[in-house]
Amino acid sequence: MREPVVPGSGWPDDPADLATPIAHDATEVDDLAGACEDLAELAARISVCRACPRLVDWREEVARTRRKSFDHEQYWGRPIAGWGAGSPLILVVGLAPAAHGGNRTGRIFTGDRSGDWLFAALHRSGLATQSTSTRAGDGQRLIDTRMVAAVRCAPPANKPTIEERDACAPWLRRELEHVTPTLRVAVALGSFAWRSLLTAASTSGWEVPTPRPRFGHGAETTLTRGVRQLVVLGSYHPSQQNTFTGKLTEAMLDDIFVRATAVARPTA
Ligand code: SF4
Repeated sequence: MREPVVPGSGWPDDPADLATPIAHDATEVDDLAGACEDLAELAARISVCRACPRLVDWREEVARTRRKSFDHEQYWGRPIAGWGAGSPLILVVGLAPAAHGGNRTGRIFTGDRSGDWLFAALHRSGLATQSTSTRAGDGQRLIDTRMVAAVRCAPPANKPTIEERDACAPWLRRELEHVTPTLRVAVALGSFAWRSLLTAASTSGWEVPTPRPRFGHGAETTLTRGVRQLVVLGSYHPSQQNTFTGKLTEAMLDDIFVRATAVARPTA
């Protein structure tokens, strides 16, 4: 089977089925996201979205042609929903799924080198039950933590356009709104995620400091909403470009999650 996974056809943890409503443009994303009553409904609708023609073509083309080393595997070939705890203390925000990672396995940061780094760090910090994340249904579980991507489809060269970023923004905003009751910390992996997260927070009622805090590794800012506070931490993205060159080391990434855990569980 060289086509993307059909919703409800038995892929592990597939949140959608053939009755799930599909967004075909940015207006429909906004409408369908706004009407989602819970995270399960949101995940289902995200996972069948077709609002960005260039990204739909790319993710499905990659699923058909595949990388040689994965040629024997069916690819997911659909958008990647948020994954992890339903009532998280910590939200990890990435850029977008990798063409042969999340776009293949159907789960965020699963099956690629960036994910290997990230899940190992989460495991060392006690936020993931296993040190690896290889495929949906592998038993991996996040603890008090949820992961999302700012853009839910794999983009060519890992570069979504501004229009694609903006079209996808309502999914992130709605996910943030659903997890707000428990959320204490958000970790943005890279400057794209940092900006997308602050925009989503601002549009969902969080007060973001002015001027907008700049991204950097270890950057930290606190958003407020009434008596609530949300600490936002910046980390370099665990991309191969950053990890191969030593720009991001395991110790640096561990420090981010030590800080995130200390804020999220102040009495632990
Ligand atoms: Fe839909 Fe977002 Fe994918 Fe665009 S990037 S098709 S808005 S899920």
